[in-house]
This record gives sequence, structure tokens and C-alpha cells, in this order.
Amino acid sequence: MTSIRQLEEPGEGRAPVIEEILTPASHTSAGRPRPSGPVIVCDNLVRIYKVADLEVVALQGLDLIVEPGEMIAIVGASGSGKSTLLNILGGLDTPTAGRATVSGYDLGRMGRRSRTRYRREVVGVIWQQTGQNLLPYLSAAANVELPMALAGRGSRRERANALLQLVGLADRASHRPETLSGGEQQRVAIAVALANGPAVLLADEPTGELDSATSGEIFEVLRHVNTELGTTIVIVTHDPLVSEHVERTVAIRDGRTSSVVLRRTEQAHDGEHRIIAEEFAVLDRAGRLQLPRAHLETLGLADRVRLVLEDDHVEIWPAGSRPADGGDR
Ligand code: ADP
Ligand code: MG
Repeated sequence: MTSIRQLEEPGEGRAPVIEEILTPASHTSAGRPRPSGPVIVCDNLVRIYKVADLEVVALQGLDLIVEPGEMIAIVGASGSGKSTLLNILGGLDTPTAGRATVSGYDLGRMGRRSRTRYRREVVGVIWQQTGQNLLPYLSAAANVELPMALAGRGSRRERANALLQLVGLADRASHRPETLSGGEQQRVAIAVALANGPAVLLADEPTGELDSATSGEIFEVLRHVNTELGTTIVIVTHDPLVSEHVERTVAIRDGRTSSVVLRRTEQAHDGEHRIIAEEFAVLDRAGRLQLPRAHLETLGLADRVRLVLEDDHVEIWPAGSRPADGGDR
């Protein structure tokens, strides 16, 4: 194995050609072609924590599909199950029921060996605490090289420099984390997570300790990685600003996906580009729908509601009120 000392040797200082060195995410060192179709599928995912005699249902039938090359945000209040989901997707925890597959790996059924391989080569994770992402006594470049050494990969220094260049930190390669700002440390963390060319990059509150300007920069670095390498990215956060940086924002409430905001750019007749954001409620395969809490409170909807099927839509009425003979308008 390569020693830490060896990893810390200074680089040769020549500028690497990013395109040559950074193999696309579809050719991970796992050497297996990724199956076509969605890269992440969560099907009725349940995670129950048992604490003494108490059961906490952190995920209660969560469904999620992410296509290869997508960059999405998952937002939700504290305690809504975001980290639980990310820990499962990261291969650190297993679901109590339901299924989660990432890049062809069934996360509920991995043995120890494939779990290790999965965590090392298929996913990269960035945590909120900058200190959790980096080893303090290693330079930025050595931090990026470490996962490659563990995977037995060659050309480590070259690749580490190329990754640091990709996240805009080429000139800080020899710095230790303590001499870098919080934002710079998270950039290094992104490079570390990309070290082995993962198919999926997961980030749990990556900007939780940063101010809003720096947060915006980090989201843009992730966007850049997504465009340049085609890596699928899932960002979990309670920062509502994230939705300005991604095409799809999925909201989770009480351990279930509740709504989705899709963002697209539209060109108007005058040539101006406008950003259109539309919110949708999520309808799961069992036909379940979560109504926004504000709607429930405004109309006093509770326990049961009256559904009226019209030609092209469905009406929802408070149980006590009588819709005028629906259906024959
Ligand atoms: P979020 O990341 O959205 O804040 P979490 O996924 O951390 O939410 O937590 C979801 C729920 O599960 C919360 O009610 C939390 O208290 C509970 N929970 C999380 N981890 C554990 C654990 N290890 N043991 C018991 N309960 C947990
Ligand atoms: Mg969390």
C-alpha cells in the first residue's frame, strides 16, 4: 500500500489536461457497464429506528427516481428524514423495508465486500461538517489521493491535481485544511468525493456551515462537476436557495416525498430567457397524494374528503360540504 508520506510528496507542477485524466462517470473503475434506466430508484423505502421501546419512523414509504446525469435537490424541514435517506443511498445504513438500488446495486442486499466496493467506487459523499470530509494532517491533494490509494488506482497525483483544478482550487493543492476557508474545504471535499469517478455524488447539507454567497458558489461548483463529468448529483439541504441551482427540487415531509418543483428556462418572443418554476404534488404508485399543509388548514380538510371525478380533473371537497352534482357539468 502507498504510505501517507509517499502521498504527501510534492507534485511535479505540470498542468494536467482534465479531459485526459478525468474518466467519465460511466466508466468507473468498477469496470462494469452501468445498466440503462434510472441510476437511483427508491421504491416504498421504510426506515424505522428502534430506541428502547420506542419506534421512530424516519422514512415511511419514500419513492424517488433519479436519471443518470441529473442534479437534484431534496429539501425538507429538520427531522423529515433527509439524512436517513442519504445514509441509505451512501451504503452506510440499510432500509427496514422497501428497496433502494443505485447503479445496479441493491442496497438492502449487499454483502460486506460489495458494500465496501460500493462505498469506495460507486458513490461519493460530502458531509456538512467540513472536518468530517478531510483529514486535517494531509494536504488538499493528499486528501484527494487517499481514496484512490485505497482503491489501488494509479496516476493519483495527476488525477488529484485535475480534480482540484475542476473545483477551482489548483493553487491550494499543497495546503492543509486548517489553512483553507470553509468554502475552500468543501471544494476539496467535492474533489475527494470524486476521486474514484463515482456514478453518484451525494451531499448532505454541504453548505450548512457557509454563508449564503459561499453556498451559492458551492452549488455552482457542483453544477460545474455535473456538466463536465456527467456525474449524477443529489443534494440534501434545508436551504431553499438550492432550487435556483437545480432543475428538480423534491420536497420530503414526514419521510415521504410530498412535492416537486421543476425549473426550466423558456425563451420569450422578445428573445429574453425566463426561468419558469412549477410546483407539482407527488402521486405515488398506490395513488397516495400529500396535500400541502396550508391547503389543509385553509379549508379545514381532515380525516376524509369528498373526491369528484370530472372529465379532465379531480376535485377535493371538505367532507361536510356538498359539491353541486359533480360530473354532469
Ligand atoms: P433530517 O436529516 O431531515 O433532519 P433525519 O433523517 O436525521 O432527518 O431524522 C429523521 C427522524 O429519524 C428524526 O425524527 C430523527 O430524530 C430520527 N432519527 C435519525 N437518526 C436516528 C437514530 N440513529 N436513532 C433514532 N432516531 C433517529
Ligand atoms: Mg440531516
